[in-house]
Amino acid sequence: MLDKDCKFCQVIRGEEKSFKVFENDFSFAFMDKHPINPGHVLVIPKSHEPDFYNLDNEMYQGLMGAVKELSATIKEKFNPKKVGLIVAGFDVPHTHVHIVPMHDYHDITSKSLMEGKRANPSEEELTEAANMIMNL
Ligand SMILES: [Zn+2]
Repeated sequence: MLDKDCKFCQVIRGEEKSFKVFENDFSFAFMDKHPINPGHVLVIPKSHEPDFYNLDNEMYQGLMGAVKELSATIKEKFNPKKVGLIVAGFDVPHTHVHIVPMHDYHDITSKSLMEGKRANPSEEELTEAANMIMNL
């Protein structure tokens, strides 16, 4: 079930612009507009639920299956040293898994991330990154 006022539910319904890279029955994936590194993707369940541990098992497994596949694609296309995951959700109250291409351990513990001062790529750069992930 989707929520009419939720920004990520609006992304799923196509009411809010996103740079989509993947969609199936359980999940929707799109480029983070403020990436830690190029190739940073958000994967969300097609159900409005603020906390991942409250998703039903089928939705959770569908979500994490997509996360696994997309992580492998991001490793291949962006060639980071590691691919990391973050599930926090302080900003938007709809479960979202950050898939982060990591070149350094501190990519997910950096001061700039903690302070919300991440990169601000252009729409062209986001489109290019989305196309790299979709065109495996
Ligand atoms: Zn939602």
